[in-house]
Amino acid sequence: MGLFPQQFIDDLKHHADIVVVIQDYVSLKKTGATYKGLCPFHGEKTPSFHVNRDKGFFHCFGCNVGGDVFKFLELHEKIGFADAVKLLAQRFGVSLPEMEQTDDQRANTAERETLLKVHESAAAWFRQQLEGNAGTRVRRQIADRGITDDTKQVMGLGFAPPGREGLKAALIKDGFSQALLTRAGLLVQRDDGSVIDRFRNRLMIPICRDTGSVIAFGGRAVDADQQPKYLNSPETPIYSKSRTLYGLNLSKNAIRQGKFAVLVEGYFDFAQVYQAGFQAVIASCGTALTPQQAQQLRRFTGKVVLSFDPDTAGQGATAKSCEMLVAEGFEVNVAILPPGEDPDTFVRKQGRDGYRNRLEQSRPYLEYLLDRVAAGHNLHSDEGRVKFLGEMLPIAGRIPDATMRDRFADRLAFKARVTDEVVRAEIRKAVVQKQTTLTKREVPSFGQVTKAEKGLIWLLIHQPDIALAALSTLEAQDIETLVSGSVLDLARKLDEDKGFSPSAYLERLNTVEAQLVTGIASEREPHVKDADGCVRIIRRLRLERESAALQREIDRLQQLGTTEHGKQMDALSMQKRDVRRRLEDLI
Ligand SMILES: [Zn+2]
Repeated sequence: MGLFPQQFIDDLKHHADIVVVIQDYVSLKKTGATYKGLCPFHGEKTPSFHVNRDKGFFHCFGCNVGGDVFKFLELHEKIGFADAVKLLAQRFGVSLPEMEQTDDQRANTAERETLLKVHESAAAWFRQQLEGNAGTRVRRQIADRGITDDTKQVMGLGFAPPGREGLKAALIKDGFSQALLTRAGLLVQRDDGSVIDRFRNRLMIPICRDTGSVIAFGGRAVDADQQPKYLNSPETPIYSKSRTLYGLNLSKNAIRQGKFAVLVEGYFDFAQVYQAGFQAVIASCGTALTPQQAQQLRRFTGKVVLSFDPDTAGQGATAKSCEMLVAEGFEVNVAILPPGEDPDTFVRKQGRDGYRNRLEQSRPYLEYLLDRVAAGHNLHSDEGRVKFLGEMLPIAGRIPDATMRDRFADRLAFKARVTDEVVRAEIRKAVVQKQTTLTKREVPSFGQVTKAEKGLIWLLIHQPDIALAALSTLEAQDIETLVSGSVLDLARKLDEDKGFSPSAYLERLNTVEAQLVTGIASEREPHVKDADGCVRIIRRLRLERESAALQREIDRLQQLGTTEHGKQMDALSMQKRDVRRRLEDLI
């Protein structure tokens, strides 16, 4: 650590309510003294993710992950401690203390900020062009597509005119350098060395972070023969395609409220669905959704509805997105549209009510898939059934939730006309095969932690004074051989430096240690209620280990012959008697 003053960290933790922070990602319900929700770190259908507001920690009983508010952000955002601190400070409007930043870091931060500004200016310029004379034809195209002025404004649509240097000239005049505009992906260098606008003669769709900052653009061809039909910004320091979900900035509140998201493919699908009043919509923009995008979405909901064209369903990007979402533990429904239709064309023809009907009639993707695959095989023949199961079992194996998997097994069994037991056994096999290739998130080195250790750890979080007083009566040797030795030792060291608080303690544990501690602290009661009792047990265990070691040494010497080792054996026996006496004193 050491990067931030402890006082600052403590203040920040005081401001940053862990429930408020985690609720940005997970919807939590208060149950008794803690908050519960679906774990964002593993797929599940019944909540085993607990947040303890008073003590400032979270723990998942499903996958064992746990820690304080910083650890949550570190794990969820895949960032380091320092970045987690910065993120929290930003979120709660706490200003960061003056810090030593390397020149590189300073340059990076400055560049990101400038890139955001460039995009904001570019978006404004594109909007201006659309409203001006140059934009007349494109404005008409937008209107012909049934997009209202309101929607146009909400989406921030703009126009990049056909000229080669329109944007370049305007932004350089605003004080941005050509080099920066090139890094932002707004300019491209041609083979002849000239540097010109990347987007020419295109309808411009700004792509935003879920906070609303513009970070990239999608540009759609305006002329029928113009290639490519869609041109996108390249990856930049502020834009990663695989981590951005189009429209989330506009729809996140509606998604959270409605408890599901409608996933469509294109910008125009998005526009129509949004405009028809279904504001909980996002677009994948033609490529299969990535697990990172799924994680973004999980902050707001665990349920997704896709609109399918039955002709192309089960193929390409949409099918891949469905399977990935199922594997990530999402509840996935499909709303089947008439053949040849996409949400854009369908909503324009059938209106709001027609689309609502389709959404209401949506059915679970897995059931839909089951019927579709079954229709492709002759289930009256053994061969057909084997092929059918061969196709469906890998999909079943990817369902992360056991209850859902079982239910799906029933349906598979029914379809394939085999007994449940047989199919379930097969599915279990498929699931096990998958798990062996995954790294399981388990507590690796802690093995069996004794009840006494658990008792002390529980008390360290809930009644620290009692636990620390007891801990201080233990000797270093009592602790060092314990499975949780490093965890208890850290508490002692913090206490010796007068720096122990449950929060400071949680902050200093590594990921694996935090899992252990939060797991124990999440339990309603300690395993051993009185701290002195824990201390007695830990002492006794150490003495018993010592006594056994002495006995082993005595036995070894005895086998070698008494005459040579007589004295040594006497000494060992004395030691052992001493250990036994201390043991008896403890009882
Ligand atoms: Zn979990």
